Formats: sequence, C-alpha cells, structure tokens
Amino acid sequence: MARYDKEISQAAEILMKAKRAAAFCGSGISAESGISTFRDPGGIWDRLDLAEVGTADGLMSVLAHDPGRLMPVFLELLDAFENADANPGHAALADLERMGILGTVITQNIDNLQHEAGSGDVIEVHGNLFRMVCLGCGAQKKFERKPLVADIRQKLGLMKYFSLAELAALVPRCGACGALMRPDIVMFGEAVKDLDRAFEASRECDAMLVLGTSGIVYPAAALPYESKQKGAPIIVVNPNENAFFDISDVYVPMKTGEALPAIVGKIRKKAL
Ligand SMILES: [Zn+2]
Repeated sequence: MARYDKEISQAAEILMKAKRAAAFCGSGISAESGISTFRDPGGIWDRLDLAEVGTADGLMSVLAHDPGRLMPVFLELLDAFENADANPGHAALADLERMGILGTVITQNIDNLQHEAGSGDVIEVHGNLFRMVCLGCGAQKKFERKPLVADIRQKLGLMKYFSLAELAALVPRCGACGALMRPDIVMFGEAVKDLDRAFEASRECDAMLVLGTSGIVYPAAALPYESKQKGAPIIVVNPNENAFFDISDVYVPMKTGEALPAIVGKIRKKAL
C-alpha cells in the first residue's frame, strides 16, 4: 500500500464531487522544481537581506553603489530560473483543470511554472518574473523564461565592471516608448495583485487545495480560511510544518509532486 493511501483516497473522494475547486500554492511547489524558498536555511534568498534588496528603492541603491556584491546570488538565481521545469505537482493541477474539477489556481510563485504546465486559470498574487512592465507607459510584455534568462546570462558574462549602466543594458526596453521595463512582480512593501479575484475564487470554490505554503505571508494566507468559512472542504498537502493543519479536512504530509499525481490517479481509476 502506498504511503498515506487513506489520506490520498479521502482527497480523491472530495475532489471527485468538486466542479470548481481552487488551489492555493506556496513556495513548496516551486522548491520541488529546484527554486529554493525564501525561508530555506542556506537557500538563495536566505543570503540576501530582503529588508535591503527586497524593495525597489533598496535594490536600485545596492545596484548603484555595490552591484558586485549581488552578483554571486544573482548568478545562482539565474541558474535556478533557467534550469527549473514544471514538476508532476504542477502537471497534476493542470490535469484536474482539464478534468473539470479544478477552477482556479492561486499561486504565490513568480516563476511561470504553473502556466508552463498547462493551467489556464492562474492568479499570480505576487506577479510573474517573466512578464515585464514598462516604467514609462505601463505596457506589458510576456517573455519566454529560458531564452530570456539565457540572454541575460550571456550579457552578464561579457560584463567587466558590473556598473549600473552595464546592468541597465540587461533590462529589456519597451517596444512602444523605449523606456526600461521591470519584472511585474510584487516587491516587499508593495500591494499583492488580483487579491479581489483570489478571495472571490476562495469563497466560491467547492473544495480548496492548500499546497506547499507555510501560511505566514498575509494577506494571501487568509484565503483558505475564507473557503473554510464558506463550507468548502480543505485538503492540505505539505511535508513541512504549516499554519493550516487545524482547518484541514484531509492532511497529506507529502510533497505535492508525489501526492497530487497519486490523487489524480485515484480519481481516474474510480471514474472508470
Ligand atoms: Zn513603454
């Protein structure tokens, strides 16, 4: 018998009855693709002072005065974002959408992997690193992840001084007005995106999957409580400690990349 077979079956039973389930994804699902989380000890983000470089102003200041300091971490981030691929957890969510079970994926991740796995309805509350927004006219442009990262890496390799001017040349420019573009992501102190839509999907869902999220980062962490209050059953998948154990109807202490394909497999078997 597979690990946590009882919990996997219970989750499958709930989802088989669902027609507009929602999924709320945290950094754990990206970590399974090799993109380390903010709080992993020794992880990439752990070595950055986010109070300093996590804001747009702070980041610009460090880039202006001491850009070389960020380079080792910057290169490691490029590596992670270039080499990552959507994992079986991302793919299983896309499967559930195609099966008419899952409505919306709400993700806190900025890596575009849920789109790449084939999901259609994705709310990215922290934005998307590969969608650029023009600082001049506000125009948006979506870039292909791997070619963009490869291009930046190649230009970075040719740099001599890591000066601000050199670094600015890495940043794409707006096709309409020529101004610099920045990634359309939520930095520290900035408001999260599409929160109204995320709350609406959480209130209206008929089951809520809470996946790889610690539940520390508010306001997004309030979303599963909204679903619970409206009577939706809560399925939590997370091998790590998190804030949602108390409201879970089913708790699967496994990686999403193992648990979700197993749940999808059960549903397919039972549907035959
Ligand atoms: Zn523009």
